[in-house]
Amino acid sequence: MSGPYTLLVGTRNVKKGKEIEQLIAPPWENHPRLTSLVVRTLDAWPDLPDVVEDAPDFAGNARKKASEVAQATGHWTVADDSGLAVDALGGAPGVFSARYAGSHGDDDANNQLVLENTRNVPDEKRGAAFICTLALADPTGKIRLEAAGACRGMLTRELRGPGGFGYDPMFLIPEYHKTFGELPPLVKAQLSHRARAFAQLRVGLDRLLAEGAFD
Ligand code: IMP
Repeated sequence: MSGPYTLLVGTRNVKKGKEIEQLIAPPWENHPRLTSLVVRTLDAWPDLPDVVEDAPDFAGNARKKASEVAQATGHWTVADDSGLAVDALGGAPGVFSARYAGSHGDDDANNQLVLENTRNVPDEKRGAAFICTLALADPTGKIRLEAAGACRGMLTRELRGPGGFGYDPMFLIPEYHKTFGELPPLVKAQLSHRARAFAQLRVGLDRLLAEGAFD
């Protein structure tokens, strides 16, 4: 085992990609082998068509994204499918989080629609969860690892804070009295659904590196 080995992050969502790079890259004390990974984004593949996210659940979409991008690029690829599940909306927007208001990735419109649809929901029933599923595919497209993480919070009634992305400005972490839009990125990187999923994935990644799977 030596490296460096390339690990591709299969997303075109720049802010999500940054979070993922930071969650993989540090020299983990417990997983020193992970430092042999060079994390790359899809920037070098501008012509790669977007993966159609038509699976019925987060895990299916994560597998699809990882597998298709790995096959198209010939690199080990990690993909994240994630979203917001609001208790009072029966788990919506769920897998439709990125396009809840219609057009893909319109965070402002999505946020406004969730606020509007929960306007009459009382404070004590405003619970919600961020969910993150991860899939790691080898260069043939075979899924080698999966992981998942969740983070519970409460929906605010207005957007708060400039940080993060997506639904972060309305997702309150009650213990901190702040939304993910207000909390420093380092705090989100400790508490988030994505942080929890990556903590799980790192164990498997370390094992694959030790077994020589990346050689
Ligand atoms: P995906 O790229 O298809 O997985 O879509 C994820 C969507 O879920 C994003 O567009 C966001 O709206 C939302 N989302 C996922 N993770 C987060 C997060 O960490 N903060 C805020 N919104 C998120």
